[in-house]
Amino acid sequence: AKTAGRNNCVTYGPSLAGRGPEMLELETALHKAIERDELRLYYQPKIDVAKGCVVGVEALMRWQRPDRLVSPADFIPLAEETGLIVPMTEWALREATRQVRAWQDEYGYLGGVAVNMPSRMFHRSDLLELVTSSVGVHGLRPDRLLLELTEGTLMTNIDAILPTLRELNELGVRISVDDFGTGYSSLAYLTTLPISELKIDRSFVQNLGVTHKGKAVITTIVALARALGLSVIAEGVETQAQAHILHRQGCTTMQGYLFSRPVDGASLGPWLRDFQLA
Ligand code: C2E
Ligand code: CA
Ligand code: CA
Ligand code: CA
Repeated sequence: AKTAGRNNCVTYGPSLAGRGPEMLELETALHKAIERDELRLYYQPKIDVAKGCVVGVEALMRWQRPDRLVSPADFIPLAEETGLIVPMTEWALREATRQVRAWQDEYGYLGGVAVNMPSRMFHRSDLLELVTSSVGVHGLRPDRLLLELTEGTLMTNIDAILPTLRELNELGVRISVDDFGTGYSSLAYLTTLPISELKIDRSFVQNLGVTHKGKAVITTIVALARALGLSVIAEGVETQAQAHILHRQGCTTMQGYLFSRPVDGASLGPWLRDFQLA
């Protein structure tokens, strides 16, 4: 999907400077996608392998264009740059909470849902009302909702977003530090943040079994989480070997293709019933 255009200018990518006509087209299409109801959430379960149950799910956005399903890598960067990510995230909060309520009614699902929160959402003064109404309208307790903020989002905006994080925490909403280990967290800050989970970045999981140092990073993050009283989860677990090492290092909650790819809400439902704690 990352192709060089006719003039040899890259049309997709982290830097969207020098936007060409294709970019404008994509922006217009994305704008309409919201109105036309083309956004979808797929869900990937978070598994506690020690207990053998689902402890939550992460909502991951897809764009169902008329001719193809588009991955977030191909539209989230543009959405963030243009600000379209704000209405998209609002939609995701409402849709994810609606889905959780539907799973609860149909399959007795009592776990949570994680929604990815970009830093732009914290520029809004009504974020708390949005979150409150999203869970409240479906009669869900706020602790059913987990917001995933990347370590980068947290650390580069901490002073601006900390008051809001504290208020969210007081409501009962939980905060996860996504892609943990990639963003140079200040450890001093970590002890004061109202967070409840560290999510070990996929890059560390993929190093497991490749080098001995890979294991040391996991051991260190698990020890840190324990010392701070936080949960820890590993993302991008693809092999039994990785799962085995993680388990032995004390990280028993995992997410990855080994267990399930992200799937639509209707397909995941029955799975959630079968994998709950009795
Ligand atoms: P992320 O939040 O770190 O999400 C994890 C990504 O890893 C997802 O990619 C997921 O499908 C993928 N993944 C899960 N298990 C495995 C595995 O075992 N192996 C490998 N190789 N990959 C795995 P996806 O869905 O393409 O999303 C990519 C990124 O796009 C996300 O990274 C997140 O930063 C962003 N994104 C996705 N949905 C949303 C959203 O609703 N809002 C915002 N703001 N960003 C989103
Ligand atoms: Ca995430
Ligand atoms: Ca992640
Ligand atoms: Ca990641």
